[in-house]
Amino acid sequence: MYAEQLPLAGPVIARRVTGLNHSPVRQLLALSARPDVISFAGGFPAPELFDVDGLRAGFAEALADPSVRRNLQYSATEGNAELRELLAERLTRRGLSTGASDLLTTNGSQQALTMLTTALVDPGDVVLVAAPTYLAALQCFHLAGARVVPVAGDAHGIAPDALTEACRRYRPSLLYLIPTFANPTGHTMPLDRRRELAEVARRHSVWIVEDDPYGELRYRGEHLPPVAALPEAGEATVYVGSFSKTSAPGLRLGWVRAPGSLRRTLMLVKEAADLHSSTVDQAAAAVYLRTADLDGHLRAVVAQYRDRCSAMLDKLPSVLPPGSRWTSPEGGMFVWVRLPDGADASHVLTRAVDLGVAFVPGSAFYPVDPDHATLRLSFTTNTPDQISTGLSRLREALRQ
Ligand code: PMP
Repeated sequence: MYAEQLPLAGPVIARRVTGLNHSPVRQLLALSARPDVISFAGGFPAPELFDVDGLRAGFAEALADPSVRRNLQYSATEGNAELRELLAERLTRRGLSTGASDLLTTNGSQQALTMLTTALVDPGDVVLVAAPTYLAALQCFHLAGARVVPVAGDAHGIAPDALTEACRRYRPSLLYLIPTFANPTGHTMPLDRRRELAEVARRHSVWIVEDDPYGELRYRGEHLPPVAALPEAGEATVYVGSFSKTSAPGLRLGWVRAPGSLRRTLMLVKEAADLHSSTVDQAAAAVYLRTADLDGHLRAVVAQYRDRCSAMLDKLPSVLPPGSRWTSPEGGMFVWVRLPDGADASHVLTRAVDLGVAFVPGSAFYPVDPDHATLRLSFTTNTPDQISTGLSRLREALRQ
């Protein structure tokens, strides 16, 4: 048969994207826009707490003489030098010794995850994760053709023995961790567990990607050093950070701290993706870090989030049915709930939305074998009163 006689099937999309499903979080975000719904669904920072004046001043200076023309021009792939210097100082103050040249700026930490996956994971490679874990990281690994394997653990994180076993069995390229105030569980990995996992990963030559967008939002307990700061981590731990939860996610600015050899590769990946992050946004963020009091701002934000977190934790015992379990986070944005055996959070959600409250069913956060009885509640965008009202509605939905 000649080519022109073949039936036309129409253009097709690549195989790597055919299995992708729309994130249920995104579909739910549409609901949270309905004014009558109290949403515990999104992982959003509270907009009324944004430092609007500080950021406005940052943009005003970035768009004023003498730098406006430079800030509207193309710029270096590695990112704004002053911004990286200021970020490096902040990281160093938090116990992760960093120089400006160790960092690349990215479009949010999400782009850093994409770049790292491109640089470190070939199709068919195994990526090890905790289960449950951050949904969009799972999507990013799947898109790269990775085989995502969950490693067993407990409330302190992945278990070192299980990690050793998984490293032997799968020879993974990468271990993805959210050690501090994890999304979706709110769990924080204690220091010994950080050390043990770093040691196992190093012994098996596995890259650790440490994703830390929430680390500065601590409500109680002691600050813990990032895994990347530990001697056990060596040179194979890449640290990813973001302005999204400390300042504003609309900035789309994050950063990656990587060892020299990998950094050069990441630059090439970033260049191929978008040449560089927005010059003017980076310049505004640099002015902001130089002139505003981000630590003072964070203290105010943390005080509010602490109250909101307590409002949720105080009321949950009277909301959830007997046999439920939930986490009690020391920081971050999320409480993770497991309803009694046999419950299905997606069914509860349908009733909940009718009653004016939303959350995220937990199943989407599992790479395989989802636990349908789980759900994620975010406490950041509602006041304690709204949280109380929203939880009363949830109690009603659970009763039905
Ligand atoms: N990592 C984790 C664990 C997250 O929860 C998020 C946002 N929800 C991101 C990365 C991406 O954040 P951003 O790109 O806004 O920095």
